Amino acid sequence: MSSIQVFNTLTGKKEEFVPINGNKVSLYACGPTVYDSSHLGHARKEIVWDVIQRYLRFKGYDVTFVRNITDIDDKIINRAKELNIRPDQLARHYLYEFWADMYALNVAPPDIEPRATEYLQQMIGMAEDLVKKGKAYEAGGDVYFDVSASKDYGKLGKKNIEDLKSGAREQVRSQEELKELKRNPVDFALWKSASEGETGWTSPWGFGRPGWHLECSSMIKSVLGETIDIHGGGEDLVFPHHENEKAQSEALHEKPLAKYWLHNSFINVSEEKMSKSLGNFKTIGDLLKEYSADTLRLFILQHHYRNPIEFSPESMNAAKQALIRLVRASLFAEYEENGGGFYPSKHYRFNEKVAAAYKRDKTLSEFHDEFVGSMDNDFNTAVAVSHLFGLADKISASKDAAERKLRAKALKDYAGVLGLTLADTRREVDRNSTEQVLALLLQLRQDARANKDFKTSDLIRNELAKVGISVMDTAEGPTWEKT
Ligand SMILES: [Zn+2]
Repeated sequence: MSSIQVFNTLTGKKEEFVPINGNKVSLYACGPTVYDSSHLGHARKEIVWDVIQRYLRFKGYDVTFVRNITDIDDKIINRAKELNIRPDQLARHYLYEFWADMYALNVAPPDIEPRATEYLQQMIGMAEDLVKKGKAYEAGGDVYFDVSASKDYGKLGKKNIEDLKSGAREQVRSQEELKELKRNPVDFALWKSASEGETGWTSPWGFGRPGWHLECSSMIKSVLGETIDIHGGGEDLVFPHHENEKAQSEALHEKPLAKYWLHNSFINVSEEKMSKSLGNFKTIGDLLKEYSADTLRLFILQHHYRNPIEFSPESMNAAKQALIRLVRASLFAEYEENGGGFYPSKHYRFNEKVAAAYKRDKTLSEFHDEFVGSMDNDFNTAVAVSHLFGLADKISASKDAAERKLRAKALKDYAGVLGLTLADTRREVDRNSTEQVLALLLQLRQDARANKDFKTSDLIRNELAKVGISVMDTAEGPTWEKT
């Protein structure tokens, strides 16, 4: 098995990916805070991590992919207050919406999906252990991590601790209540006190809530252990979120939290980051009304995950046209149902017989090497996708039916490693179009009757009856019903 090179944010360079424990790979990517609808930027993050975990499985690794849900957070509490509903109601609503979006985008569910509110005991325990170890301290019902207890704080986010201190001092001046509590302005909260009646839990320090960073640290420990292979997320999480997760976990366990830190870039609209706070985003739901899931995925994968993407309707339409090239070529393969099930394509590795058949075809064998070569190079989907197009063009140009069929099947399989379904869009003709087609048939039948061409009008009626559509003549004209 050829090795994968990954760009490690921690070291700032590409490194050979060697899992800690043989063939097993533990992968944790920070999931959504469920307080609002997800937008294209979130879709990119989830699609990037979906492709990474698919590719690792394709390579034969035994992957445990964890994506958490932050279902308690100040953003959730504040939004719920605005709407005058309970924070858990709000979180549940947006969690269900997130799941529906992921399903629609063909993002496979993670192996484990811990929710912050299920791990309160573990979070409290971790904060207690840090206090006991002298790495954190209690102040006024809050618990803060003592940043001076961390050897290399700022290393992940490439920050200088003195700059951070002066920056934080500025901030603290505007937050009077924190001034007295923190020993050092850079210290961050593991636990925040809350007044009774607010959302919170009882703890050794009184009623309160966990800090966001502590949530991930304790969920990682609970479901994967003290050190994992890959920790990932959007590049906005590098600092302070991942820096703080790293500082507190490593201060407690005295071993690295993750061997590799991988971060994906954003989607920009007119060179500004697409985000909720800037209000320049399109929700996934909105986008899926205009574009298919494959179009969105292709648009995203045509860029390397570490490069920003500029969003525009023109570039989306270009992806839509490009997708047609792949779908047309894939139609030479016989249609196969996906098998269904809860997690239909958990193993993206091809079975031996299929892989051997692909290897015997020279074009496919060359294509395989190019595809794997580009994906091994820090998951360069932009190049991998260009090889899919190359293969599609060869399929369309081929005159040999058996060869075409085999290569078209391969095209679908390799596209599937990237999560592209290459679904035949003709199968998705919607109800609206169906009704228009039926109206046209009824009109043709009316015209035939008017011309006394009863052979044609009967033919239309009888053929429609065969597919379960019964035509009726009423005073207002002909209509139909499903029988
Ligand atoms: Zn996190």
